[in-house]
Amino acid sequence: MNVTPKFSVAIIGGGVCGLTLALALQKRGLKAHIYEGTSKFGEIGAGIVLGLNALDIMSEIGVYDEICKFTVDPRKTKLPGFTTVFANAPREPIITVNNEGGKGWASMMRMQLLDALVKFVDPAYTHFNKRCLSITSDAETKVQTMHFKDGTTAEADVVLVANGVKSALRGMMITDTQPELPADAIKGVSYSSLMNFRGLVRRENALAMGVDTSLWSGITSCLGRDKHVVMYPVKMGQIINIAAYVREPSSVKLPPNHPTTEPATTEELLAHFPESDFAPEIQDLLKCIEKPTKWYMNIVYPHLETYSKGRVALLGDAAHAMLPFLGAGAGQGIEDAYLLAELLSNPQTTTKNVEEVLQVYSDVRRPRSQLVLDRSVQAGRISHGHGPSGFTKEGLREDLTTVDHWSEEAYVYPLNKNVDQALDILKKEGIFAY
Ligand SMILES: Cc1cc2nc3c(=O)[nH]c(=O)nc-3n(C[C@H](O)[C@H](O)[C@H](O)COP(=O)(O)OP(=O)(O)OC[C@H]3O[C@@H](n4cnc5c(N)ncnc54)[C@H](O)[C@@H]3O)c2cc1C
Repeated sequence: MNVTPKFSVAIIGGGVCGLTLALALQKRGLKAHIYEGTSKFGEIGAGIVLGLNALDIMSEIGVYDEICKFTVDPRKTKLPGFTTVFANAPREPIITVNNEGGKGWASMMRMQLLDALVKFVDPAYTHFNKRCLSITSDAETKVQTMHFKDGTTAEADVVLVANGVKSALRGMMITDTQPELPADAIKGVSYSSLMNFRGLVRRENALAMGVDTSLWSGITSCLGRDKHVVMYPVKMGQIINIAAYVREPSSVKLPPNHPTTEPATTEELLAHFPESDFAPEIQDLLKCIEKPTKWYMNIVYPHLETYSKGRVALLGDAAHAMLPFLGAGAGQGIEDAYLLAELLSNPQTTTKNVEEVLQVYSDVRRPRSQLVLDRSVQAGRISHGHGPSGFTKEGLREDLTTVDHWSEEAYVYPLNKNVDQALDILKKEGIFAY
């Protein structure tokens, strides 16, 4: 499609959400410049699970076939489900949720997902080493100026901020009416008291070390009190992705500028998951992680009261970083990207009404993404033995059935539901014509 752009759009941050947005806009004839803070597009060496909501959007923007080159299509193939076990009895499922048909998911390497997106991005519109520190708005023309760390600036009519959980630009959205923020949430982000060890195990290496990997074919979550280990296959089963979570005492406070990640050793990892609570099958697998790393997990909390201000809007983790316990954080950001692209490319959106359009984007996306965020926190509490029905097999079965319902609500979502809601509001408010 070739249309004369009505306004110029810039995207700050070239992660999964920023790139999805760039491609969704591009498909609709609006090419956005992407300003990425690092020297190239990149992702960490870990896995990610995408639900059908995100996969539908990947289809719509033309990336799904590329994704299916390295992951199994859950819409066509019945895949192993999600099994939860006690960490000291990994062969006795507490509950298993099927991955099939209308409510499935796909697991993949993050880097492969990013590469699939990058393949379709126009290099002429990408700018590296452009760490945006602030955005100012011209009072008269309303043109937005992005100020980068290297001393340069760039202008656009609309700026969409997808720069992740540690967004330095989120502060723009925190208005005077925001409830008082805790001292450690200066830019709207709080340490969740959860850290995790992450790493990958090459299945052939594990087999060579005599480890039985047959247990780990779908997603498995192994629960202990205040700790749990999640493993699932990526790269068509050649690699097992592992995340081992530890809940720290709530007295542990980390400032927003504390590093997100640190190197870790196998000894340190095993010390957190001792044989007394974590069965030999799990211990053996943890020992195979080549280079474990330690991560501190932050969330956007308290909830932002808006994702847009003037001609600037947030999406993805910058807006609503959550905990990974529904496997839905990126999916929510991908939904943001799709709605933004649909609204900005709508023929009725102009420089005159774009601020109102972005406000409607915020109004539509906040309730859903913040609900998923809240549920992700609650799902973590349930996995760690703090659920309403207790840490027994029966209690967990009950609470995890609720968690399954939450993840289904996150994963199964009509592609255009938010678009229809937004158009309805825009028409009712007289911003768009009927
Ligand atoms: C342990 C763990 C497991 C998870 N598992 C899942 C899962 O299975 N499924 C799922 O859906 N979600 C999962 N998530 C959440 C998911 O990782 C995030 O929601 C998603 O990566 C957010 O994407 P993003 O594009 O918003 O941000 P990011 O991926 O963080 O990208 C931000 C980009 O902006 C750049 N940047 C930062 N600051 C600036 C700046 N000032 N100027 C310019 N560029 C900048 C960065 O370099 C980066 O490229 C998980 C999270 C964790 C912690």
